[in-house]
Amino acid sequence: MPKLPECDRCLLYAHNPHLVCAVHPTGVDGNTCLDFREDPSAEPAELWEPEGASYYNGELILQPQQRLTQQQQLELLDTHPMFTGKCPQCQHEFDRDWSARVHWDCPECGWMDDTV
Ligand SMILES: [Zn+2]
Repeated sequence: MPKLPECDRCLLYAHNPHLVCAVHPTGVDGNTCLDFREDPSAEPAELWEPEGASYYNGELILQPQQRLTQQQQLELLDTHPMFTGKCPQCQHEFDRDWSARVHWDCPECGWMDDTV
């Protein structure tokens, strides 16, 4: 059955092995079809990905916004006791096991960790 490549995207395409379409049951002559009507629900040839989203298994997945900007992350690396081992306010040094610590409230000056 001489169907055209664009028949797959046509509203009139019959999706039937014995019938090309409702208007041209045996197909059309040549490489174009005057009755081609693009199906708006057909799969687009190229998937458009908006910023911050990506296709996964054919579905558009919105990725969560980063909570911190890169600048904020760099500041955190420079000041947060999780990375420096010191209180950013009074420079009190936390215990040696500071890498396993969850809370970073300073016992010296009362600085409170509000980022984690
Ligand atoms: Zn402190």
